[in-house]
Amino acid sequence: HAKRAGKGTYRFFSTRLTEAANTRLSADLQLRQALEREEFILHYQPLVSMPGGRVTGFEALVRWKTPDGKVVPPGDFIPAAEETGLIVPLGEWVLRTACRDMKELLAGGADLKTMAVNVSAQQLRHAGFVDTLQSILKEFDLNPSVVELEITEGTLMGQGKAPVAILHALKALGLRLAVDDFGTGYSSLAYLQKLPIDKLKIDRSFVSDLESGGAAQAIAAAIIGLGRSLRLEVLAEGVENRFQLDFLVKNGCREAQGYYFGLPVPKDALPALAAIKWRREATAMRRADSPP
Ligand code: C2E
Ligand code: MG
Ligand code: MG
Ligand code: MG
Repeated sequence: HAKRAGKGTYRFFSTRLTEAANTRLSADLQLRQALEREEFILHYQPLVSMPGGRVTGFEALVRWKTPDGKVVPPGDFIPAAEETGLIVPLGEWVLRTACRDMKELLAGGADLKTMAVNVSAQQLRHAGFVDTLQSILKEFDLNPSVVELEITEGTLMGQGKAPVAILHALKALGLRLAVDDFGTGYSSLAYLQKLPIDKLKIDRSFVSDLESGGAAQAIAAAIIGLGRSLRLEVLAEGVENRFQLDFLVKNGCREAQGYYFGLPVPKDALPALAAIKWRREATAMRRADSPP
């Protein structure tokens, strides 16, 4: 399943990048060069606790900034990076950069508890992933519990799933594990009992359908309930408006992320976001009814 999807994306990717880079280099070589030339960048999207509206952390999202100034979204190159294996060095760069930026924010006095980083199956399976993470944490003297690895259901349970031992080793390091795009995989829920998961991230598709009522509302409410029963944190992805936010808060969801709160932005914008958070907190303390 993943392979087929990957191939389709790969074709799209090739055309698009051949166009972008105006060359006939293979996707592999283009990505390798991009990594060497330091053309990848991270944007960060705030994670917001509810109902207070406090920014408690960020999710790191990679982009490719081509020499001609185009910003290529991850959906256009991550599948190819996974197929070619370049996801391993690229993923390591993402982890190191996100940890370095988080350290800088914390050192600057920001009150943040989470830096979330997406990790793909090939990365998790790659020998040395745990050691790499351990050395990155050491390099920046970062408390492991601030790093939250986002792993999809497919990576946890699908074909070529990550070894359970790796997940336990990551947990033993003190890292946090979140299930990304929860509800979109085809897996059974049994893994939630067996794996050391801390958080479920409700997939954006359920959140965007909340206004149409019915099924999406039932599914979102059920995931929040499941999280509560299993003592897992639950975050709603892709919150874009007040209706969605109100529904989620009313149903007990304690964390959200989405354009309603903030787009992914470059690192330079983050200290200002932290400042906004402080004002929001102060406002919330004076007026308990104030919107986040
Ligand atoms: P994801 O991890 O589920 O990340 C959330 C995606 O939803 C991001 O897209 C984000 O920009 C977008 N998003 C956030 N809020 C909203 C909203 O309110 N409405 C809508 N319509 N979209 C919203 P992005 O940055 O294009 O990333 C897409 C996917 O690429 C990510 O999905 C993740 O699976 C993957 N990805 C991104 N960075 C990395 C990375 O460093 N490593 C790996 N392995 N995968 C990555
Ligand atoms: Mg994610
Ligand atoms: Mg997600
Ligand atoms: Mg998603």
